Amino acid sequence: MTEPVPRPAWAEIDLGAVRRNVARIGEKLNENTQFMAVVKANAYGHGDVGVARAALEAGATWLGVILVEEGVRLREAGIEAPILLLHEAPVERIDEALANDLTPCVFTEKGLWLIGEAADRAHRPVGAHLKVDTGMNRLGVPIDHIEDFARALAKEPRVEIEAIYSHFAFADAPDNPFISEQLSRFADACDRLKAVGIEPAFRHMANSAAALTRPDAHFDMARVGIAMYGLSPGPKLDGILELEPVMSLKARAAMVKRVPAGEAVSYGLRYKLRRPGTIVSIPLGYADGWPRALGSGRGASKAAVLIAGKRYPAVGTVCMDAFMVDMGDDSCDVGDEVVLIGSQGKERISADDLASALGTINYEVVTRISSRIPRVYRG
Ligand SMILES: *Cc1c(COP(=O)(O)O)cnc(C)c1O
Repeated sequence: MTEPVPRPAWAEIDLGAVRRNVARIGEKLNENTQFMAVVKANAYGHGDVGVARAALEAGATWLGVILVEEGVRLREAGIEAPILLLHEAPVERIDEALANDLTPCVFTEKGLWLIGEAADRAHRPVGAHLKVDTGMNRLGVPIDHIEDFARALAKEPRVEIEAIYSHFAFADAPDNPFISEQLSRFADACDRLKAVGIEPAFRHMANSAAALTRPDAHFDMARVGIAMYGLSPGPKLDGILELEPVMSLKARAAMVKRVPAGEAVSYGLRYKLRRPGTIVSIPLGYADGWPRALGSGRGASKAAVLIAGKRYPAVGTVCMDAFMVDMGDDSCDVGDEVVLIGSQGKERISADDLASALGTINYEVVTRISSRIPRVYRG
């Protein structure tokens, strides 16, 4: 008997693994360092509400998202924990952010003024986290504008800076000397703010990589994403802590047939059978986040799947809603379970395997699994 699923292609999300990962990472943090579970982008594709709840149960105290809409979804699900917006809220959504008790962050004078105006409309002062740029040059007040920004803050009593934070330019190279450089720039930024009377007690800087390897970057909170999902921030950090992958991607075989030698498979007939084979159609494709770049023609296949505990190559062009597998002389039945990410028997396929086939990182592989794929929670 197979368990019912909402669609014959689904992602299984092991919330028990989320809880265990959060607890294990939490043990590595300094004693007074809080755990922010970063659940942006639908929890890196894992399903934000379920993951957020599991993380909070396991000891996380904050949640981090990018968009106001992402924070509102969590509130609508009844989650009451503090939620930090990691980008400035746009003018169209700042009132909604405050109405939903999302904590804004600020790094531009325009953004500061918008929060101030929204605070007026909400008839309350608003606490915000100030982001400083310590070298990534993405988002944050540049260090040499700190004093200018502090002057703007002094004229904006409606906004209270509750925390100062920054972000590392490396998520995968904890031994890079620039990590220490950013820490010293962060200390400098904090000193310069303090000199002009801005001295929030709360500081945070660490991502997963720094949470796992740099206690000197833990401060008051670590913002943990990828490691909580059981994935390594990068090859250098593989195995540094025992983490369990949270997502498996599965499907049921949609069609199984013998195809004679000389026939070819899928758009463009790029995969030609040299000998007869069992071709299995898997009912998900690039519209579901199984990239077309995983397709193959005559050359070596770029991806494999597991059927009955054995590995078989994905062959031919990936279609919008399906791709094919060649089982050679083996066979299976329509409806049999196929594992695309995860384990079956003794075999396993990781998000990292797909990432290296695609020339990307595990973050992108799991995050791009589309909303068409139902998330089925376990544990
Ligand atoms: C996404 C994000 C994180 C989490 O990074 P991981 O490498 O996944 O741990 C932390 N901080 C900010 C600002 C982010 O945008």
